[in-house]
Amino acid sequence: MITSLLIANRGEIACRIIRTAREMGIRTIAVYSDADAKALHVREADEAVHIGPSPARESYLVGEKIIAAAKTTGAQAIHPGYGFLSENAEFAQAVTDAGLVWVGPKPSSITAMGLKDAAKKLMTDAGVPVTPGYMGENQDPAFLAEQAAKIGYPVLIKAVAGGGGKGMRKVDAAGDFIDALASCQREAAASFGNDHMLIEKYILTPRHIEVQVFGDTHGHVVHLFERDCSLQRRHQKVIEEAPAPGMDEATREALCAAAVRAAQAVDYVGAGTIEFIADASEGLRADRIWFMEMNTRLQVEHPVTEEITGVDLVEWQLRVASGEPIPLTQDQLAINGWAMEARLYAEDPAKGFLPSIGTLELFQFPEHLGRIDTGVYEGAEVSPFYDPMIAKVIAYGEDREEAREMLSEMLEDSAIWPVKSNSAFLIAALDHPDFVAGTVDTGLIGRDGEAMTAAPMPSDHALTDAAMALVPRSLQAGFRLNAPDVRIAPFLLDGKRVDVTLHGPGAEEPAPAMLVAESGAVWQLTPWRAAGGTGGGASDGAILSPMPGKVIAVEVAAGDKVIKGQKLLTLEAMKMEHSLTAPFDGVVAQLNAIAGAQVQVEALLAKIEAAE
Ligand code: ADP
Repeated sequence: MITSLLIANRGEIACRIIRTAREMGIRTIAVYSDADAKALHVREADEAVHIGPSPARESYLVGEKIIAAAKTTGAQAIHPGYGFLSENAEFAQAVTDAGLVWVGPKPSSITAMGLKDAAKKLMTDAGVPVTPGYMGENQDPAFLAEQAAKIGYPVLIKAVAGGGGKGMRKVDAAGDFIDALASCQREAAASFGNDHMLIEKYILTPRHIEVQVFGDTHGHVVHLFERDCSLQRRHQKVIEEAPAPGMDEATREALCAAAVRAAQAVDYVGAGTIEFIADASEGLRADRIWFMEMNTRLQVEHPVTEEITGVDLVEWQLRVASGEPIPLTQDQLAINGWAMEARLYAEDPAKGFLPSIGTLELFQFPEHLGRIDTGVYEGAEVSPFYDPMIAKVIAYGEDREEAREMLSEMLEDSAIWPVKSNSAFLIAALDHPDFVAGTVDTGLIGRDGEAMTAAPMPSDHALTDAAMALVPRSLQAGFRLNAPDVRIAPFLLDGKRVDVTLHGPGAEEPAPAMLVAESGAVWQLTPWRAAGGTGGGASDGAILSPMPGKVIAVEVAAGDKVIKGQKLLTLEAMKMEHSLTAPFDGVVAQLNAIAGAQVQVEALLAKIEAAE
């Protein structure tokens, strides 16, 4: 067994690998970029090596730096995680050539599955059903258009070297084909340096079903059943589960047997995933499930398989890479219960899923309910350099409904702030009637997503509770429900004024602010006056921090006279400088900003009072 391991990755997957390696008594070595100097994977590893600047192409994607780090620290093996260099056959070869153990398949297996057309041909030869279509050499546009007509519209044009949905277009009618082809070719040439295309039948009511496979160096290949990843947004997975809803035993057996044949055809060693697409217009049927591609690495969604099989897939990877046989035979593997995973992103669904960055001042989950695989911690920075996935929330239940409710509860009781998260979006998706029924196809979010992305607002009940808590205790003494002195108290919430109905005496000196957490969302509630509001807010002189950041310069002092447009202070946020200026002529009545201080979104930095 190997005794030391370098993890050529970051974020949750690096932490996930470190956890198992540690349990196995293996020394762990992390690598990190500038932006990740304080990242969780660096803290958790036994050692860490700095490998360069923040952009991945100058650090996590530079194979030589990673191999050099392994050499200097005396690491025996390299685990690539997913993404970055995990499916780079040249890197896998270079690792082996350097005398290190590569925790992954042979470079030849990666290459064989690297191009979609070659992989599909190989699979056809191995007796694995592939999506109907054209996957030949002839790239003449007129010829390809003929093929598309033969397949029958709608068709899907796909770049053979594609990934992440790039170089891929659905074409509904013959008249659109030539233009779509040209645009796919341009995109693929720019992204992959290869403009070859294949044409596939566009599957209607498509479901994404994949099978976890595992091979070893002793010639064994087993499968660990299927996962369903049909809930997607723009061809990216959002929620994954295992097993697949509506899968009967006969279909499962046929599908998993095909997956094992696929892995055997490329002499597969280690953890891999065979992705299939199913036409689910009449449920899941063995003759309507086709091979799409193979991912020659550990998958993001591997935890749901671990939860239902009781297998630690990272442990298996490390054992197999050390030359041991797969610990269990096919007969010893069984499905137990149901597992569901949600991908939690630092992004704002209400703003077109714009990535959200900054300090995670709050990052909390009810961990006792399930499993959280994360690469961040409360107080950590979410930087703009990498994938915005900050955690995977994984629930397990005896059956599907139990897992679904548990996952929803875990998300509802989470609190992430001031960085935005897609938590409320995930809760809405879990509640969609099609998801509840287990009949999701990959187009669901495209059709019904709008209702799921609306900016969440706290309930009146939560707002009133929070507002009451801001009222000084001495005044609360007289609080009685339905008390006659009902009044409306203005607050600042998410940059907007909201009026909260309070029953009870007025609060003259409310506490400065508080957070309201409900249903997976967090808001900051500030009494309107403390925020510098002046009743109606029209002549509001409150200078609020527009986003979390750092005050880098303060140009005025309390009591200074200022004129409209005069620069008051400079804030650095999202790597940019922002000047905050006086909204009208007046005096600096209050100055809270201190140069060098970190500030939260909507923090009251200064207050300008209008000149008499
Ligand atoms: P990429 O490698 O770019 O991610 P894939 O071939 O894995 O592309 O396809 C990504 C997603 O696109 C799938 O998960 C599925 O949702 C959809 N898709 C792929 N092929 C088809 C098809 N023939 N018909 C309908 N949808 C498809």
